Amino acid sequence: AVARFNPQAIIVGASCTAELIQDDPGGLSEAMGLPCPAIALELPSYQRKENWGAAETFYQIVRTLADKSIVREPREGRRARANILGPTALGFRHRDDLVEIHKILDSLGVEVNLVAPLGATPEDITRIGAADFNIVLYPEIGDEASRWLERTFAQPAVRTVPIGVGATRSFIAEVAELAGADPTPALGDTSSRMPWWSRSVDSTYLTSKRVFIFGDATHAVAAARIAREELGFEVCGLGCYSREFAREVRAEAARCGVEPLITDDHLAVEDAIAAASPELVLGTQMERHIAKRLGLPCAVISAPVHVQDFPARHSPQMGFEGANVIFDTWVHPLVMGLEEHLLTMFREDFEFADENGPSHLAAHSPRPMAQPAMEMATAGATTTAGAQTQDVAEVPVADIPAPTAPPTQTGAFAWTDEAERELKKIPFFVRGKARRNTEAYATAEGLAQISLETLYDAKAHYAR
Ligand code: SF4
Repeated sequence: AVARFNPQAIIVGASCTAELIQDDPGGLSEAMGLPCPAIALELPSYQRKENWGAAETFYQIVRTLADKSIVREPREGRRARANILGPTALGFRHRDDLVEIHKILDSLGVEVNLVAPLGATPEDITRIGAADFNIVLYPEIGDEASRWLERTFAQPAVRTVPIGVGATRSFIAEVAELAGADPTPALGDTSSRMPWWSRSVDSTYLTSKRVFIFGDATHAVAAARIAREELGFEVCGLGCYSREFAREVRAEAARCGVEPLITDDHLAVEDAIAAASPELVLGTQMERHIAKRLGLPCAVISAPVHVQDFPARHSPQMGFEGANVIFDTWVHPLVMGLEEHLLTMFREDFEFADENGPSHLAAHSPRPMAQPAMEMATAGATTTAGAQTQDVAEVPVADIPAPTAPPTQTGAFAWTDEAERELKKIPFFVRGKARRNTEAYATAEGLAQISLETLYDAKAHYAR
């Protein structure tokens, strides 16, 4: 590789299988006397995961390559300089977040010394010590390196992650303070439409929507704050898979009044979502699948993500434009105000029947082929092309209902017919919660059967 690519540095490490063989590739590369620095990695594949591997790799790169003899120029007569740490290849919206961060730094008159690791060469890394401070955009990747830089070059770090309007404002204030700049022009940026959008009467129906949030710690915590403080949602579940950052998630969960869920077991996440009966799930690609199974609306807020979350268009999560993107993305999967109203009022309607769900989600998918038509199509495919056109039946493609409402039948309780009918009057997106609350109330009261009266008693009990 060195002979062919002539790199400025090389990283040497082992995969999980190679770790079992214990070949010591780091030691071997050192003994080879390579013409460039060889950075040996110790990544315990059986204990740690991707983000930890990226953070450790970045830290080792910085530690090995940073030129420690750099002495920062005096601040007088020049603009403040910052390193942006954390953006990577395969990062969730990192490309577009960087555009927004550059905009903010420009308006504060802050010069970017280096963005790393995304786009940085080993040679660039050598001058990492020349910056006055660091901006840790993605703590999962950049935190470890930033702490070493703090010790080695006395570079303070901005640790507020600017996802959401409030967090972006705090970020601007924090950067301005370290840069000795005036935050007013950046704070006066009027490109943020999210506050007006969420204050407008159209968004009233979003108030207290129950939302379940799961992802990496940074995005999950940011989402919880936006949900609580900027959109008026009620966070009914919060968790992350990043054990290294569980403390931040625990603190935010305490603010939301929910039990934190720290796990990398997607089945545990599925159970927690089903138990919480949210009206919206904000999660990773995995939660998107879970929400689909449970018939719940969902938006993706964090890696792991599929190809559709590396969009062609500009779609940041950070900064004021990121807040605009977040507002649209999260509200999109929900049933809109008028339709929600119609679903509640005309539940016998052929179009607005509640099992049809939101009209904009999968309402126009083709109906699966009927069995006989399918058999004919198969038969036709085996004949010659000419005969095929005559044999194949016209297969009707019709609209099918959108995903059905979340499963709500728990089966442990006997509901009277009357109570069951009354329960069905509750809109589908909160019916699961109503059923669970009533059953929890019945358990607490020692009741074996749920009558209409129990349903209303439970409602009054939880409304207190
Ligand atoms: S499981 Fe992970 S460490 Fe092992 S080979 Fe696959 S990607 Fe590499």
